[in-house]
Amino acid sequence: MTSAAAPDDRLRLAVPNKGRLCQPAVSLLREAGFTFEEDERRLFVPCENFPLDLLFLRADDIGEYVQDGVVDLGITGSNLLLEAGVDVTRIEPLGFGRCRLQLAAPRDSGITGAEDLRGRVVATSHPKVSSRFFLERGVEVRLIEITGAVEVTPLLGVADAVVDLVASGSTLATNGLVALDAILDSQAELVRTRELRPARHHLAGQVALMLTSVIRARHRKYLMMNAPAEAVDRIKKVVPGMRSPSVIHLTDPGMVAIHTVVDADTVWQQLGPLQAAGASSILVLPIEKLIP
Ligand code: AMP
Repeated sequence: MTSAAAPDDRLRLAVPNKGRLCQPAVSLLREAGFTFEEDERRLFVPCENFPLDLLFLRADDIGEYVQDGVVDLGITGSNLLLEAGVDVTRIEPLGFGRCRLQLAAPRDSGITGAEDLRGRVVATSHPKVSSRFFLERGVEVRLIEITGAVEVTPLLGVADAVVDLVASGSTLATNGLVALDAILDSQAELVRTRELRPARHHLAGQVALMLTSVIRARHRKYLMMNAPAEAVDRIKKVVPGMRSPSVIHLTDPGMVAIHTVVDADTVWQQLGPLQAAGASSILVLPIEKLIP
């Protein structure tokens, strides 16, 4: 598999083939408008409506494939990119696969932070990032690399502490561990090779725009309402982000329609105050794609 074999009028995007990042990445591609066959077990899946080939690869390997220009673009976790130490162009965080690389130790161990681990054993699947973390703190530890179930190593007597990926923290708690120092916040990212052939720049930009427009739209809602014209200033005060809403005159004299884009997380709190300010027929609509 070499990039030289691929024509310049098609792009290659690496997508995680299994695990936590796979389904959200596939959903994002579909929401962005790419159509492709359902069978994600295949390595190579061409898009039907866009000159893009999807390569389903191990999330851990994607950074290197992107770095070497085997694929033009990739979706993988920022933790994996840092651990692989790859040199790629980071285009945009994608808002899913959020987790934190965390130092954790058994609840009753008396270990309260990195300092307490001098000369002790720490298990991790992120040896490079962990080693940098301890080096920066001037704490010498013995790191052992474990590929899975890092959190059970203190119970097994294999390690004194762990550096592990944590989302809710429930796995740590189940294994009697408490979170200490946070080392890294991670999420899925869209990355591009620095080796991108000039003839592919335009296509790569289009793919990036299609994907990021969906990510941006996920955090926003389209808000529509009717109101008496004299209520517009009061309504603007209720929705702080609403700097320049569209105000459209209705056939009903003195009445206007107000349209704007608002933050999806806070819009619900604003509905009551909007009504109180004079708004009626309020609609909150999803946005499919948003290009600022
Ligand atoms: P997986 O293939 O399911 O083992 O996980 C691959 C990637 O998913 C990790 O390297 C992280 O980037 C991301 N991830 C998101 N949440 C978590 C979590 N709670 N634990 C482990 N990995 C996570």
